[in-house]
Amino acid sequence: MAEDCIFCKIANGVIKTELVYEDDLVAAFKDLHPIAPVHVLIVPKTHIPSVNDADAANQAALGRLFLAARAVAEKFSVAAGGYRIIINNNADAGQEVDHLHVHLLGGRRLGPMLAK
Ligand code: 5GP
Ligand code: ZN
Repeated sequence: MAEDCIFCKIANGVIKTELVYEDDLVAAFKDLHPIAPVHVLIVPKTHIPSVNDADAANQAALGRLFLAARAVAEKFSVAAGGYRIIINNNADAGQEVDHLHVHLLGGRRLGPMLAK
């Protein structure tokens, strides 16, 4: 856990936030500034800044992010209708929090994948 990382603190219970999903490797919580009716962030409990920093030691946590996304999509009833998962990496993608996180977005038609 990185001492000054907000998502480390949320995922490990240092900052009390409602977790909508949790297991031994990952945790999920609602985004503070949602851009869709369902906007959940899914993060590894260990500090991995971005996909650029992921290695074989993180393989189980990385795989678990997808299984957690599946569980979250089912929990919020968007699995059948559809949802999008996004991982922003570094500046060009607009990454603001340097702890790898999956955005799960759903609950409305999400439109084109990218703004032009
Ligand atoms: P990024 O741009 O890094 O992919 O996305 C960071 C996301 O984290 C943003 O959507 C932002 O609203 C969310 N966020 C930033 N700080 C907090 C926080 O303290 N709590 C929660 N729940 N979300 C946060
Ligand atoms: Zn962290």
